[in-house]
Amino acid sequence: MMQMNKPELLIPAGNLEKMRTAILYGADAVYIGLPGLSLRAGSAEMSIGDLGAGIAYAHDRGVKVYGALNTFARNSDLPEAKEIIPELAAINIDALIVSDPGIIRLISSVAPNLPIHLSTQANTTNAEAVRFWHEQGVRRIVLSRELNLWEVGEIAAAVPEMELELFVHGAMCMAYSGRCYLSAYFNRRSANQGDCSQPCRWEYLMHEATRPNEPLILEEDERYSYLLSSRDLCLIEYLPNILSSGVVSLKIEGRMKSSYYVAMVTRTYRQALNCLIQQQENYQCNPLWMEELRKISNRGYTTGFAFAEEKITATNPDIKYIQTHEPAGTVLEYDSMQKMILLDVRNHLVAGDELELLLPDSIIKIDAGRMIDLDGNKLAAAHGGNRIYLPLESEAPVGAVVRKKIRTGK
Ligand code: SF4
Repeated sequence: MMQMNKPELLIPAGNLEKMRTAILYGADAVYIGLPGLSLRAGSAEMSIGDLGAGIAYAHDRGVKVYGALNTFARNSDLPEAKEIIPELAAINIDALIVSDPGIIRLISSVAPNLPIHLSTQANTTNAEAVRFWHEQGVRRIVLSRELNLWEVGEIAAAVPEMELELFVHGAMCMAYSGRCYLSAYFNRRSANQGDCSQPCRWEYLMHEATRPNEPLILEEDERYSYLLSSRDLCLIEYLPNILSSGVVSLKIEGRMKSSYYVAMVTRTYRQALNCLIQQQENYQCNPLWMEELRKISNRGYTTGFAFAEEKITATNPDIKYIQTHEPAGTVLEYDSMQKMILLDVRNHLVAGDELELLLPDSIIKIDAGRMIDLDGNKLAAAHGGNRIYLPLESEAPVGAVVRKKIRTGK
């Protein structure tokens, strides 16, 4: 019989809207960037007040909130860190995700009851390292992405007192867990402050020193080769293996990603986890879940390092972003008298578009040919920023996401 912990589904939430989306679609916990000068990643859009309100909202729904403070701090960051840590404890944040031993020491001195989660940026790869961090008061470790599942299982068995968290989905680094300077070099956005702009996904050309205007194009088939770009991690098919290895928290990457991404990934992994909890050893990955995950922007999926035989996440000629659907908008309210949703439009929509409302457990088709403006006039098209009404027989929750199929040839 499979030995399985009750898993936590941990979802990235770059701002309050994404937090609400993650909760609506079934997150057990969310992680966020934190407000505060130099420790802030570009994705953090919350003041302490907003964050406190967000935490109260999450706690009311039984969802935990972890704050990423996983920069490698400079001396000049320390006074601010010292100030912000007790403020975060006061608004009942559930844990801080950190990587710098200096920040861990500060937390222990100014907010000793605040749980500490060690970031994957700390590159924890063995049981002795896990024991070391346990002695420092760390409650949970986000294991290094470079471990395979056998190594994860060995660590869990050797140090059962430590909670283990593992990335199961999202972008992979070609550098060792974010130890990379490309983003800081190209556009001053530091990966080590949680603000990577992912330049490893860009196209690179090579040229001989005396021929600067004759770049060498490296081709695979008829397309470029993306030398530094990895496929995206996706372990939805292997959830039983991961949970039986002793991991307690399944982490989705992507604090910079959109609410639409959050909705799609959360509802898909929630369905898979619910199925796994109910069916245990009879669990089988539903092909529809993979189909859903392929509808969001991705560069092809890989199991990364989870199985020893696929050590490196390979690139391939199809690696440029693949996606079949894109966000159409977010539900602002449901008018039960008129049986209409009010939609905050996020992309250009035309009457013939194939629209689908994503609910946590189902998908409902919507007729884009019946969109009307706020005065009740029929619309042939709508644009990002517009608010429109669309017919819907059954109630839709506020914050639910509507997607549209991308037309071929677009
Ligand atoms: S540029 Fe790529 S390899 Fe470097 S930190 Fe960012 S995602 Fe990782």
